[in-house]
Amino acid sequence: MSGEVKNSLNLQQRDAAIEEIAARLGVSAQRGRRFAELTSLRVGGAIDWVISPETEEQAAAVVHALDEAGIAWRALGSGSNVLADDADHHYVVLSLKEMKGEAHFDGERVSVSAGYSLPRLCVDAARRGLSGIEGLGGIPGTVGGALWMNAGAYGHEIGTVTETVRVAREGRVVEVPGSSTSLSEAP
Ligand SMILES: Cc1cc2nc3c(=O)[nH]c(=O)nc-3n(C[C@H](O)[C@H](O)[C@H](O)COP(=O)(O)OP(=O)(O)OC[C@H]3O[C@@H](n4cnc5c(N)ncnc54)[C@H](O)[C@@H]3O)c2cc1C
Repeated sequence: MSGEVKNSLNLQQRDAAIEEIAARLGVSAQRGRRFAELTSLRVGGAIDWVISPETEEQAAAVVHALDEAGIAWRALGSGSNVLADDADHHYVVLSLKEMKGEAHFDGERVSVSAGYSLPRLCVDAARRGLSGIEGLGGIPGTVGGALWMNAGAYGHEIGTVTETVRVAREGRVVEVPGSSTSLSEAP
């Protein structure tokens, strides 16, 4: 990641808009965080804002509001595959690792939010005697990050066992077939 994203507002207007969006949607918006605190490699410079939704609905609404206001943002899971440079990052980091919720099992299927831990999901599945993702148990990170990267190991890829993905569209959470998810959509 580099800090070259352009915002359409000046910084003062942008900051006021972010504070308003966070207050209206009831999400945490922090200043003074660094990528070094948020990534596995423990490197990376200051981030203007870190917004941390706790539900899918909040995440979809935040993304929509930021887009409407022309405010640049980038998604972050648990930061296990991000190498951020030491320069300042003048955009919003949408931290999705607090969006954990619970894993909902229904027979051989499971539904989780993007912030759910992938290793934890593998343990949950194994405890129910389910197979198909056991090869992914050693991959650090969130389920959302794994989907974005199509994480894989030992012959297993998360994409091959993903039936549907809930994505943010126009401020709402929409479920789409896993096969139709494009890289422009945030799980
Ligand atoms: C020790 C170690 C071992 C690893 N082993 C493996 C391995 O065996 N196989 C493998 O595939 N990978 C491996 N990785 C890489 C990494 O763990 C995976 O890619 C992991 O899936 C990333 O998840 P994350 O939550 O940390 O994502 P992050 O690192 O936070 O983000 C990765 C990318 O995904 C995007 N992203 C994250 N969450 C979302 C979301 N909810 N919506 C939209 N975009 C999102 C981010 O913008 C970024 O571009 C390893 C990493 C480490 C440190």
